[in-house]
Amino acid sequence: MNAPEIRAPRGTALSCKGWPQEAALRMLMNNLDPEVAERPQDLVVYGGTGRAARSWPDYHRIVASLKSLAADETLLVQSGRAQAIFKTHEDAPRVLLANSLLVPKWATLAEHERLSALGLTMYGQMTAGSWIYIGTQGILQGTFETFAACGQTHFGGDLRGRLVVTGGLGGMGGAQPLAATMNGAAILCVEVDPQRIERRLQHKYLMRSTTDLDEALRWLDEARKAKEPLSVGLLGNCATVLPELVRRGVIPDVVTDQTSAHDELHGYVPDNMSLEAAAELRRSDPEEYVRRSVDAMGRHVAAMRAMQDKGAIAFDYGNNIRAQAVRAGVGDAFEIKGFVPLYIRPLFCEGKGPFRWAALSGDPEDIAVTDRAVLELFPHNAGLRRWIELARTQVKFQGLPARICWLGYGERERAGLLFNELVRSGKVKAPIVIGRDHLDCGSVASPNRETEGMKDGSDAIGDWPILNAMINTAAGATWVSVHHGGGVGIGYSLHAGMVVVADGSEGAARRLQRVLTTDPGMGVVRHVDAGYDEALQFAREHDVRVPGRTI
Ligand code: NAD
Repeated sequence: MNAPEIRAPRGTALSCKGWPQEAALRMLMNNLDPEVAERPQDLVVYGGTGRAARSWPDYHRIVASLKSLAADETLLVQSGRAQAIFKTHEDAPRVLLANSLLVPKWATLAEHERLSALGLTMYGQMTAGSWIYIGTQGILQGTFETFAACGQTHFGGDLRGRLVVTGGLGGMGGAQPLAATMNGAAILCVEVDPQRIERRLQHKYLMRSTTDLDEALRWLDEARKAKEPLSVGLLGNCATVLPELVRRGVIPDVVTDQTSAHDELHGYVPDNMSLEAAAELRRSDPEEYVRRSVDAMGRHVAAMRAMQDKGAIAFDYGNNIRAQAVRAGVGDAFEIKGFVPLYIRPLFCEGKGPFRWAALSGDPEDIAVTDRAVLELFPHNAGLRRWIELARTQVKFQGLPARICWLGYGERERAGLLFNELVRSGKVKAPIVIGRDHLDCGSVASPNRETEGMKDGSDAIGDWPILNAMINTAAGATWVSVHHGGGVGIGYSLHAGMVVVADGSEGAARRLQRVLTTDPGMGVVRHVDAGYDEALQFAREHDVRVPGRTI
């Protein structure tokens, strides 16, 4: 079947039997909008092979199910396939999804590939299979905050006059150039696919591109000396370019990576071959492809380690490249620390994480109204003001207009209720969808990322994402999902997603109040249990009830 071109409906005319179902339909479609998705024709939204539905017939079956779904029914979606509709009740989720889950002993990429080829499962990544991807903005603020924390921690300010080197300009990685220049840096982004470079130039996330390393270094050197922000996309392969930088003695101030290293078969591209040759080898000899891909990641990380030894600040940016490098024999790959323990964990202790919303009207003015409302709601939050003002002027919407910002426990509930009021009073033209990333405080078990280096050693405990999904279901989120393998790849993570719709009704206000408390609340209790004093103090101050600790 030919792939249709998908775009979510705009405006207030419903094609479903209520706004919650309509919201799920529009967000599924929005995930596959060519402006939003990296490879919509293959149902791939971002993150290597992160899909929104298992196949085109499955996509159509989900759409038909959502259109027929009553306000007291729940649709079950199993790895991108609509499997059942049950009668539940109005406060229950309209959709429950499970993505890519495998019994732990079988949880390998090879087994996932085998089952995918049989049409039995799909890779849901994080917000791809949970229908709340909003394009590269979704990761932009997190990347902006991470670079800001890196500048603050290591350079006592921003990144002006600093050189950052990274790889990957895909759905997530494409946020790096803009996030770095927002922090004043000169950044070199090595990307193997010219189309990805072109897309980031078009979306104004990237300033310049070249195929010539000398030219890139000359531009960056000038920018660094003038303390001017500059982003340069270099067409090349990290496994070749980074060792070459080391050979030339070009040691950046900061080095990281966002190639799709979590997937050695469909994500990372080995060096010394064209993209076409790589695609052919992937088809004809997947084992040889994996061997070359893992070997290339070893050389890539060895170069990052060499830069680190010579004084660069190196951090892993959540794509599991260190574990891949260990497979290639780079025994000290974990000398490079992850971005969560380095920069993000204190925020997780307060239930903070990427909170996002989209305007179902499709009207950018609705997001402008919410931007103003959020700034008025939190007038003393200087970081939030700085971010919203930058985002307003520098972020181009992809698909339905949307916004992201980091809010914590207490703040999210207030923002959700305010948005519901904006819908009820007609200040925005249609309901607002509220969700979050799975780069999150209380819904993820991922020992090489979100739960790396937990204080009590509980990195691999998998109960928390399941409890998160269960409590958000009980609280009445509009859709809830449980996933395996997002971010870092099959076998390495379990995580849960949630979305809740503000349609202006009293029922929605009740559900928003509950869900936007339980969801970030899980982050606080997760970190109390792991022994973080900041989390315990926060729980005490904000009446989060933790048996034996605060009650
Ligand atoms: P993507 O698949 O859309 O993009 C990856 C890019 O890397 C592609 O453009 C590809 O051409 C390029 N690439 C692959 N091998 C390369 C090589 N050897 N040299 C240079 N370029 C190469 O993926 P994405 O959505 O951008 O995600 C990137 C990674 O980050 C994934 O592993 C993903 O799981 C992970 N991730 C990180 C976060 C986070 O918060 N940090 C969140 C979600 C996912």
